[in-house]
Amino acid sequence: MDEDFEFVSFERQESIEPDESISQISATIIESDISILNANSSTVWLHFIKTPMGTQCTICHQLYKPTSGVSTLRSHLRKHQLENIYFRAMLSYFCPRYKIPNRHEVKDMTIEIFNTRHAKISTDLASIPGKIALTADMWTSTINREAFLGITIHYIDFSWNLCNFLLDIIPFKISHTGVNIANTIIDILQEHNLLEKTLAIITDNASVMIVCGREIAKQIENDLSQLTFAHYRCAAHIMNIIKKSDSLRQYCITNGVTYLKPILDVKTRWNSTYYMLERFITLESVLFLLAKEYKSIQEIYPNENELKIIKDMIIILEPFERATKHLSASSYPTLADVRFIFEGIQVYLNNLIGQNEFTQSEFASLIHQKIEEY
Ligand SMILES: [Zn+2]
Repeated sequence: MDEDFEFVSFERQESIEPDESISQISATIIESDISILNANSSTVWLHFIKTPMGTQCTICHQLYKPTSGVSTLRSHLRKHQLENIYFRAMLSYFCPRYKIPNRHEVKDMTIEIFNTRHAKISTDLASIPGKIALTADMWTSTINREAFLGITIHYIDFSWNLCNFLLDIIPFKISHTGVNIANTIIDILQEHNLLEKTLAIITDNASVMIVCGREIAKQIENDLSQLTFAHYRCAAHIMNIIKKSDSLRQYCITNGVTYLKPILDVKTRWNSTYYMLERFITLESVLFLLAKEYKSIQEIYPNENELKIIKDMIIILEPFERATKHLSASSYPTLADVRFIFEGIQVYLNNLIGQNEFTQSEFASLIHQKIEEY
């Protein structure tokens, strides 16, 4: 059904009889509409007339150039949606005491609500005691192919509640490069005075998003390499690209390294992150050469700092892998071992937490705490 069907017979039928049913009304609309549609190609002509000065709206008398297209006229008619008598009749039927605002009032109300909320968000953001993390994603409307950048903020408030909300959603009209996305995000962070509080940004694996993450890190001098999650995705991303290419096998042969298939982590598969990272380090000497050759791999290849984090993550995850393997065994009873295994892991983690060189102490102590709770 055409979208401006609601405007039909605006002029011809000024009022609705109190006992007239909706089906009767719509029957009238369809009947009269068809007769008009036969003569004119679009329903917009139900509300526009051609005058010597141009095309004129019969509702508000606004003039358009004679050459104005149907889509221009149709978007004008959207403004009158609230004034539609059937819509108003429906609302007053369901809630007779409600005073239906006109479109100017709705516009003012919307702006007022926006300003109030905006002010409240600013105060809320200013009172965040610690750091914040962002998630950003680009998406494209399937209806009109318009692109939007959505930014969600995550933080812990004074009462230790993990909070998140949609910080902004921006129509993205410029080219979707990593740099452009990064600049847009930084503008928003500046607007809300969040630059210094931003600890991390989490995105999907789209290559522009990875460039964007690097760009933001560079601009706010906030070392993203401290963020375990970013590397985790990064490694998955590299492995994914490498998996698709056959170059790795070739490089292994020329460099005398035994070829091993890259492993990707799978959320539902235990220890797959460990296997992925471990395989990454095993193949590192060859992957390094591969990254030199291919720009797409080079862009996302971990730096020295990040490699250290990957190695430390492996150190943390290793006993868990061994424990899972042991406890998953079905050929011998394992219940009695559980306590010993957990205690062994706790001692292991405790050792790591004390080490200066270790980059993942915080992560290790979090796991330690979690186990303690059981
Ligand atoms: Zn009008």
